[in-house]
Amino acid sequence: MRKIRLRLLSYVVMLYMLLASGWWSYLLFQKNETAFEAQSSIMILQLAAAEQADGKKSQRYTTLLEEQAALFAKNERQEWMILGETIFFLTILIAGLYLIDRGYRKEVEAARQRRNFLLSISHELKSPIASIKLILQTFQKRNLATEQVQKFSGGALKETERLEKLVTDLLFSARLEKTFEPNYEAIDLQQLSNDLVQDLRLKYPQAHFSTEYMGEHFHMEGDRSGITSVLLNLLENAIKYCKESPFIQLQLQEQDKHIELKVADNGIGIPEREKKQVFEKFYRIGNEDTRSTKGTGLGLFIVKKIVDAHKGNISLEDNLPQGTRFKIQFPITA
Ligand code: ADP
Repeated sequence: MRKIRLRLLSYVVMLYMLLASGWWSYLLFQKNETAFEAQSSIMILQLAAAEQADGKKSQRYTTLLEEQAALFAKNERQEWMILGETIFFLTILIAGLYLIDRGYRKEVEAARQRRNFLLSISHELKSPIASIKLILQTFQKRNLATEQVQKFSGGALKETERLEKLVTDLLFSARLEKTFEPNYEAIDLQQLSNDLVQDLRLKYPQAHFSTEYMGEHFHMEGDRSGITSVLLNLLENAIKYCKESPFIQLQLQEQDKHIELKVADNGIGIPEREKKQVFEKFYRIGNEDTRSTKGTGLGLFIVKKIVDAHKGNISLEDNLPQGTRFKIQFPITA
């Protein structure tokens, strides 16, 4: 509420500054006009007197006529000057106000992101630790049958993997803050995609995957762990952001100097205005207080940084009738 009031107040101040500067310019214009009219009236009287005394052909009359023309020209110049300065001043003022407002919005958004990140990271850290602790406590207190031990330790392992991914993402994103130098080696993207989809089929039995390879060779030079992270982040997001029955399509297409990778899902989709922002660090759509999906907002940031480091290109669009489609173009050679 306080923020809204402050915002409102700043808009009122901005409006006042704009109106006040417009008003002062108008007053200046009026004053210039009054001064000109007074000078012009005197000039007319002087001209009439000179005409009467010496006639229209006299030197004095001619000089006065020249002075009158100069007065008109000066007045016109001054009018243009006032108008020009008003426009210049208003332009500077509006640009300044716009920049201040944009900076303020960015600051508010950054604060929201930081808060979201802290909330999500504490949740992401706390919940696997709590699960693992509970499992270990159960092991300590009860004599479990081998089957149960298998089941519980499987659960603990999954939670440990979650923690590991979180720590890896955090470290990776810190590394990406500086420059990321890919460790280039030959990668068969088709082989890598097949392996990852195979693993994910086991990990997420509820999800359906389809793969399509258009071309013969999908070899590129790249950083294996980086490209793996790109594929995994896109595929896992595709599953995570589907409400029910995820259907994920992975497509590779051989092009002249590129390999095009597409990952499409039938999930909740990404609104138009957020399509660029999702690549920002810690950016998550919506509010952490109400969100049900887990995450840190690091995945797509990492993906974009890695793609950029490979001189590739990433974009996203709606996957009609429902979902999102990410498209990446990887250059074949480094
Ligand atoms: P995280 O998944 O940890 O929140 P990401 O950086 O991977 O972070 O994604 C940023 C945000 O983009 C997510 O919070 C989600 O709102 C949105 N998003 C990413 N992938 C998808 C997708 N396939 N479908 C819908 N929304 C997505």
